[in-house]
Amino acid sequence: MNVASNPLDAGSNGNGERMSQESGAAIEAQGASRYYTMGETSVHAVEDVSFSIARGEFAALLGPSGSGKSTLLNLLAGLDRLSAGRVLVDGRDLSQMDSEALARHRRLTVGMVFQSFNLVPTMTLADNIELPLRFAETPRSGRRARVQELLSSVGLAHRAEHKPPELSGGEQQRAAIARALANRPAVLLADEPTGNLDSRNGQEVMSLLSELNRNMGVTVLMVTHDAALAARYARRSLHMADGRLLPSAEVQP
Ligand code: ADP
Repeated sequence: MNVASNPLDAGSNGNGERMSQESGAAIEAQGASRYYTMGETSVHAVEDVSFSIARGEFAALLGPSGSGKSTLLNLLAGLDRLSAGRVLVDGRDLSQMDSEALARHRRLTVGMVFQSFNLVPTMTLADNIELPLRFAETPRSGRRARVQELLSSVGLAHRAEHKPPELSGGEQQRAAIARALANRPAVLLADEPTGNLDSRNGQEVMSLLSELNRNMGVTVLMVTHDAALAARYARRSLHMADGRLLPSAEVQP
């Protein structure tokens, strides 16, 4: 994948200063923290987390329920704002972005895949996958060809005119992956992508993610609580507990 073709204008005000020459990482977190205020108490959902993920890596984010994995993923996706620290994705500092630049970040720099697929049930797969291209104002003439290419790359060319409820969970998740990749994001963020699938469909989805990572060079960060899945498919695992990233020496085998 040609990351340089990502049609973002770098460096202007509110855009998040592009720092890829300085930081070659796809994702970099420096003291990233997110606190929620609940009445009198402050919940430290993510606390002083620092790590770096190189371009082209396939990394898993592991940890028990409530350890802060989804909060961290949402921060990287630009769906939530940091309380302290900074995160850079594709060389751009999200904490420096205004809401317009953050929306552009969500549209173009990251693709997201969720446990529950989040496809629009009344639209065909082709129309679902075309949506992000429309939001990115891709000219109509190029959209259908790109949709066909995406459907083929996830093995669903023959299902283009089907609606999500007519398909298996595995097929729906593959369509959601195609949609997430529509605008050629630098980073794919997946939150428990196999959580709603049986083991056969789950393995198919994981094989697809790892093939796309290898062939398209898209960096993948996947949240899972399944250590076996992470060990089989991810080349690296990060472990969270109580909002913090565990040093690798403290990770239980
Ligand atoms: P995980 O994805 O590892 O299950 P989460 O990131 O969902 O963990 O949650 C981490 C902690 O932050 C939990 O204690 C959760 O209750 C809390 N939390 C998450 N989102 C909110 C919120 N919007 N308001 C208050 N607390 C939250």
